[in-house]
Order: sequence, then C-alpha cells, then structure tokens
Amino acid sequence: MNKKHIFLAIIIMFLLALFSGCNAETKGESEKEAKQPIIVQGPMPIEAEKFAEKLKDVEEEQSGNFIFYKGTVDNYPVIVAKTGKGMENTAAATAVAIEKYNPAAIINQGTSGGHDPDLQVYDIVLGEKVTNIGSLKTGDKEKGEGISPKEWVPMDLMASEGSAGEDPDAENIRYFEGDEKLLKAAEAVKEIHKGGKVVKGTIGSADVWNNEVDRINWFHENYGTSVEEMEGAAGAQIAEAYSVPYLGIRILSNNKVNEGEYDPNTAEANQKYVYEVVKEYISSIE
Ligand code: SAH
Repeated sequence: MNKKHIFLAIIIMFLLALFSGCNAETKGESEKEAKQPIIVQGPMPIEAEKFAEKLKDVEEEQSGNFIFYKGTVDNYPVIVAKTGKGMENTAAATAVAIEKYNPAAIINQGTSGGHDPDLQVYDIVLGEKVTNIGSLKTGDKEKGEGISPKEWVPMDLMASEGSAGEDPDAENIRYFEGDEKLLKAAEAVKEIHKGGKVVKGTIGSADVWNNEVDRINWFHENYGTSVEEMEGAAGAQIAEAYSVPYLGIRILSNNKVNEGEYDPNTAEANQKYVYEVVKEYISSIE
C-alpha cells in the first residue's frame, strides 16, 4: 500500500465512523417517536379533564368534537381523549384516534350506574366484558297488541353481513373482552383506590339511561351486567376491529337498585385510579 492508499483508507474509515454515528442518533430519535401512545378516553369534561391536568408537556388537538390532550406520563406518550357522551361519539373518537395516533392500548373510563346490588357508589368495575345493551330485536306483534320489552331479544349486528332481522345466529349477546394485560395492570394497583372496592365485571352500554328497576334487574339477570353507561361497548367494537388492546374502567356514580345517589365527584376519583393503572401498564410494557 502506498501513502495515497493509506490516506484514502483513513478518510473512508473516518466517513464510515461519522455515518454510523449519525445513524445511531436518528435511530434513537425514531425509536422515541415510534413509541405507541396509550389513549385514555373520558366522555364528559369532568371525566377527562382531571386526567389531562396530570399529563406533562400537553399539546391540544381537535378533530370534530373530540379533544385530544397529547402529553406524557413517566416520559411515555399518553393521550387523553375527551370524546363526548354516547355510543356514536365514542365509536367515531376511537376510530379517529386509532387512525391518527396508532395507540398501543385504549382505556375507556368514566362514571356508570349500578346494576349489581352489591356494588356501591365509588366502587369501580374493570370491564372483563363489555356489551351493547341497546342492540335489541322486539317481538312480533300486531296493531293493538302492545309492547313487551321483557320479550325483546339481543341482536348481534356483527354476527353476519346479512339481515340481522332474519338471522337466528344474530340473536346472541356479543361480549367484547377486556385486554388481559390491561386488566392485570388494573388489578395490580387496586389497593390505591380508597373510596370503594375494585372488582372485575360486565359493563353494559347503550344510549339509554335506565331508571326502571325491573328493567335494570332484567339486564343484570340476562346479560350479567354489573353497571351501565353509554360508551364502553362502542369503543370496544372499534378497538376490536383494529385489534387494539382495550379496557373499560367504570366507577359507580349512582346505583338505582340500592338507592345509591348520583355523586359527580366519583368521576375524579376514577381518573386518579386510572392514572395509576396507566403508570403500572407503562412499566409493564417498557
Ligand atoms: N347525571 C349526569 C349524567 C350525564 S349523561 C347529568 O345529568 O349531567 C350520562 C353520562 O354518564 C354518560 O357518559 C354515561 O356513560 C354516564 N352514566 C353514569 N351513570 C349512568 C347510568 N345510570 N346510565 C347511563 N349512563 C350513565
């Protein structure tokens, strides 16, 4: 090798070293950006804003009626989504969030009404299962024969692409299962919730507020519902369509079956608990 070759080799080695250094830096940057956020949904301002206040470095983004508070918890990206109330808002907000942010997991949380007489206001239900209790088919009656809500049967709109009205396979209750890893994280921190107990159960959702105790009992017996609210099953259906891990976490703000009076302060207590669940989940995936 002559001097010229040695000089060239040194230059090449220097350039290679420089290049791999840059590469490591861009890799580090893109890894940070590639962390998939955790999304925490809350329908009403009182059910989302307390959690949003706990985030660091918050940026607000709006899509339609939905507000996304993008920040971090323990340096991990977490987005609080204020979805608005009800099934439609929740389904749309879930789809928008999945398309925009590619989340690692979604927690849908907020208040609920008790169906189980053993649950008190301030108890929390982890949605081992979530189901739509507004998707029903009525009995066949002629004019003047009246209405019989207890005879209505469940209608699973996801059972087939054909007519749900004609399809006997559609007369089933569809349950969406809560993600196991999220459930595990939620169970691991349940002691921190001081206002009541934390139990696994079934969440029923519909754009309906049931105040008829016989009807509530009918759902409790036929669907096994622990609580009702207006969002969980809608988010679960969309999360399942995109295979995103999902869990509903609902505190009782009222329970008609045991005279539990509505208490709006439960919304904040639930966010406090869910914040700990998120921290626990982050430490389990990091
Ligand atoms: N009582 C409040 C309720 C708001 S509307 C008010 O009048 O302002 C219903 C919201 O509360 C929904 O987001 C729903 O998920 C939740 N919710 C709490 N208890 C409920 C119940 N018993 N039935 C249905 N939704 C309930």
